[in-house]
Amino acid sequence: MTTLNSELLIEPEMFRSNISYIKNLINPSSNFMSVIKSDAYGHHLESIVKDIDDLSDGYGVVRADEAIKIRMLSKKKILLMQGVYNDKDYKLARENNFDIVVHNSDQFNLIKKYNNFENLWFKVNTGMNRLGFDIDDFLKIYNEYLTNTKFTLMTHLASSNDPKAISNEKQFSLFESLRSKLHADVSLSIANTGCIMNFPEKSYDWVRCGIGIYGGYLNDTNIKTAMTLRSPIINLRTISKGEGVGYDGRAIADKEMKIASVYLGYADGLPVGIKDGTKVLINGNEAQIFGKVSMDLTTIDVTNLKECSVGDWCEFFSPDLPISNIAKSNDLISYYLMTSIKSRVKKIYKNIN
Ligand SMILES: *Cc1c(COP(=O)(O)O)cnc(C)c1O
Repeated sequence: MTTLNSELLIEPEMFRSNISYIKNLINPSSNFMSVIKSDAYGHHLESIVKDIDDLSDGYGVVRADEAIKIRMLSKKKILLMQGVYNDKDYKLARENNFDIVVHNSDQFNLIKKYNNFENLWFKVNTGMNRLGFDIDDFLKIYNEYLTNTKFTLMTHLASSNDPKAISNEKQFSLFESLRSKLHADVSLSIANTGCIMNFPEKSYDWVRCGIGIYGGYLNDTNIKTAMTLRSPIINLRTISKGEGVGYDGRAIADKEMKIASVYLGYADGLPVGIKDGTKVLINGNEAQIFGKVSMDLTTIDVTNLKECSVGDWCEFFSPDLPISNIAKSNDLISYYLMTSIKSRVKKIYKNIN
């Protein structure tokens, strides 16, 4: 048995500085919704609420159990971003003063049954084609039920990370043309992180910011990765030219090499498909993954590292090694890496200094 472990360090100072930075980009009058679904993208929901409550105007989640945990800690607005699907959840949402997204007619029928039109967010489909009313269907509902009701109109962009994607302009123009047909008291919300960064003028009444808080946004180095995934080196060996490393001998030495085996594998949440050459940090120096990730081990080419010993930490991502790098070089997304970390990894949530 061993008490060695891989670790996930979470640094709330990073959330705070990321939020402050992002808030400076948006219209000062828009409200900032911290999207903390999926256990705050793997960062521990309850801790983060305590540490960012003063910076947040509200929270966005999907699951009711997460919304309830937040309600115990915060009086701020809490939005169920996919709404409710049955009477039990509807009542629970009302009892806890959650805002509710309504994205289709089944959900609207549930709302009508209780005849309570407060704190609703109507989601319209402007091109994502997952959830949301088609514009004409929404207008029918609006004209029949909502002409004197305050609500928020929302939609979601399909390609917010790509400022050149023409779908963005199409989605904005559908949204804005719909808005021109509604009364002036309707609030508007379209921006996730990518939209905030690329189209800050579209911040409207509410931005819904997730990945930017955690530092998984690719194109701005002011935003720092808040989690460090690290694990110790447990073995070092030298191999000769022509030898293979790990399963299937995927990586083959083109010279004499030094190989470190690190105590972390796909059972910790590092995807099995991670490619050779992916960067890691050991004692602040770059090294590369070399060989297929195994269940409990990952092999690293440390040939060029001067200082490297058994027991040294190998960092897979951290504030100094953006998670978006490993995501991008492996055709993954940082959202996926953050939410893939397994429970056997020791989570250490640091205190705010
Ligand atoms: C998850 C989610 C967001 C946050 O998106 P990021 O890209 O992480 O900023 C915003 N809006 C909705 C509806 C979401 O589900």
